[in-house]
Amino acid sequence: MPEASNLVMAPRIESEALKRRIEFYRDLGIKTLWTGHIPADSGPSSSPQKQETAPIPDSEIQSDVSAKAIDVVTQDQRIVPIQVNSPLPPMLPEDDNLQRIVQDMGDCTRCRLGRTRQRIVFGSGNPEALLVFVGEGPGADEDEQGLPFVGRAGQLLTQMIDNTAAKEGLPIRRPDVYICNVVKCRPPDNRTPEADEMEICGQFLFRQLMVIRPKAIVALGGTAAKALLDLKTGITKARGQWYKWRDIPVMPTYHPSYLLRPYNQNAKRECWEDLKKVLHFVYD
Ligand code: SF4
Repeated sequence: MPEASNLVMAPRIESEALKRRIEFYRDLGIKTLWTGHIPADSGPSSSPQKQETAPIPDSEIQSDVSAKAIDVVTQDQRIVPIQVNSPLPPMLPEDDNLQRIVQDMGDCTRCRLGRTRQRIVFGSGNPEALLVFVGEGPGADEDEQGLPFVGRAGQLLTQMIDNTAAKEGLPIRRPDVYICNVVKCRPPDNRTPEADEMEICGQFLFRQLMVIRPKAIVALGGTAAKALLDLKTGITKARGQWYKWRDIPVMPTYHPSYLLRPYNQNAKRECWEDLKKVLHFVYD
């Protein structure tokens, strides 16, 4: 146990609230706590899902800035100091909904992607969808329109959903599913989002998924698979198999932009097979 004199002591009541808040975010898989607003009435979550995931070791709690130090009492009663730069984001309220997440997000600049984007691309589709597709991040067309998967890759995704469902006799079309990305702002030059950007923006994705609670999730591409599953293997090996994010089955498959490359005909066929498997699992 660290010496008490080495800790920056905060009032006990603040420590207790922070402890619960941090445990909650650990359970969601969020390791980096960032800026936001704490409503005066926000209290501990009583969500039953809270019990389902193993706690993240204290050593993995990270902080990006050092404006404020707070002591936190862990489950085994150890006191550890952590650094936060401003009030932590609110815990998931029991009555959380997509609109509330949008409101909490506001004109977000929690990560550097907020500086260069035109529009936040939150997500679109059926808010009660049984199936959610998660991509990597918005591209130029999405950034301009504020909607996910509207460029060439998006058109291919629409075709894949609509045509596969039609072929398999399932009455599903793109508007029936929900589509979003790991990061909600376009990375400059369409680069891959950095780990800290995915962590920071991940709080919104995880809340989206918990609100929608689909029967299955398709992770489009290696970045989405990594964000949801922390996979060590590449997408080529991981695709076509079921994993789980919390208690929701997740199928990783190729990102549609990868399929647009002319030399990836095999990948296209494999991706169609993955989609077929998912559609039957969800809608049969
Ligand atoms: S990517 Fe996410 S966390 Fe970063 S600025 Fe945009 S909405 Fe905020």
